[in-house]
Amino acid sequence: MGRDQTLVVVGAGLAGIRACESARRASHEGPIVLVGDEPHLPYDRPPLSKAMLVAPDDAQVDVQLRPASVLEDELGVRVLTSTTALALDTERRNLHTTGGDLGYDELIIASGATARRLPEDRKYSGILALRTLDDARRVRKALSNRARVVVIGAGFIGSEIASAARKLGAAVTIVESAPAPLIRSLGTQIGALCADLHRDHGTDLRLDTTITAIHPRDDAEPDADGRYPVGAVELSDGTTLHADVVVAGIGASPSTAWLKNSGVQLHHRDGGVMCDEHLAAVDETGAAIAHVWAAGDVAHWPNPLFDRTMRLEHWTSAADQGALAARNALAAPEDRRPYSTVPYFWSDWYETRIQFVGVPQAEEVLVQHRRDERGGTVALYRAGQRLIGVLTIGRPDLIMKYRRLVAGSATFQEGVDFGAAS
Ligand SMILES: Cc1cc2nc3c(=O)[nH]c(=O)nc-3n(C[C@H](O)[C@H](O)[C@H](O)COP(=O)(O)OP(=O)(O)OC[C@H]3O[C@@H](n4cnc5c(N)ncnc54)[C@H](O)[C@@H]3O)c2cc1C
Repeated sequence: MGRDQTLVVVGAGLAGIRACESARRASHEGPIVLVGDEPHLPYDRPPLSKAMLVAPDDAQVDVQLRPASVLEDELGVRVLTSTTALALDTERRNLHTTGGDLGYDELIIASGATARRLPEDRKYSGILALRTLDDARRVRKALSNRARVVVIGAGFIGSEIASAARKLGAAVTIVESAPAPLIRSLGTQIGALCADLHRDHGTDLRLDTTITAIHPRDDAEPDADGRYPVGAVELSDGTTLHADVVVAGIGASPSTAWLKNSGVQLHHRDGGVMCDEHLAAVDETGAAIAHVWAAGDVAHWPNPLFDRTMRLEHWTSAADQGALAARNALAAPEDRRPYSTVPYFWSDWYETRIQFVGVPQAEEVLVQHRRDERGGTVALYRAGQRLIGVLTIGRPDLIMKYRRLVAGSATFQEGVDFGAAS
């Protein structure tokens, strides 16, 4: 792109900021505009469900990804906070926002995902979800007075919130509709191992259970918005739990309402942006839309390493995709690179780090070490002869070595041999 050409990035999160940095690294000299609907400069989300919830105040945890001076002065990025993208016209190359229209030469969609919330949160106070910095502040405040906490969903975010609440001395119940935590991410067998972590730390984990009703606290007055404080939840197993706080950890959906009618193909189930292997957004026919790219939690793309299309909600892929989408946007067509990766995520439960590389759709899962002499667990995932995934619990020293094995298409036996020697 030439000197005067404008790169517009929608979404001032991790993928968005990495796109801006990468564009400057690729010697883009033209204007860069970063459009974000939150009032904050880009910040990091992982600490929001971990350190931030147990810290006495914000000063103890620095979540900012780059200070304003670096963003504006060093990187020369014009950051439009509290500005929402409303519509995209790919023919005229125009982005319509709450702050007016922005023309672009290249545009990157990095609008991430939005937490699903319970409909009752409009009726009762104390029903929360956690996606944003402001959400985290609300959850921290609610947990601070040794509340009785009910977490809905034993996924990563729900489990981390439960861990933080236990650290703060709260009585915590997790209500999970599936027979084990994390079945979609790790499979049933390993989900059951993760369940033990909750039980070992005094969290009451109700599996195969749903919430059937939510009730306000007896004799309570409504707040200024007319909402009554939550008081109890009824469960499908017939029990009623007293609750001062209910936190929904029930997943997130791609933030793409603004792309309706843009011609960008949205995933038939979750509404994410469909991309080609270079992270170019595609139209309904599957053809790349000129000058429009996507990255991060919002993007589905065909991962050549696993021969399937996927959308990840992981820190590492959001950062890497942001950087590559910008690089590809600025490169000549013959210099564009496909995005190929071994998915990686981590999650911190209590004092333990859970890490996973690869994909979990396995024919066999072998738990090779269970609470070994270092207290660690390692499980290997097999499809055909291939090692397709590895989970470690409490063995952060091993996970990147396994990631290299999976990336190199190692056989399952090579994974077993490596595990026996380590
Ligand atoms: C609480 C929490 C903890 C996590 N912990 C881990 C972890 O331990 N390990 C791990 O691997 N991953 C973790 N993740 C996942 C990781 O943080 C995400 O994958 C990553 O933040 C995604 O980055 P993104 O830039 O794609 O999207 P986001 O971070 O969601 O950023 C998108 C931004 O775009 C904005 N936006 C949306 N729509 C519009 C619009 N129309 N106009 C303007 N702006 C818009 C959003 O408000 C948001 O600010 C965690 C996520 C959360 C929420």
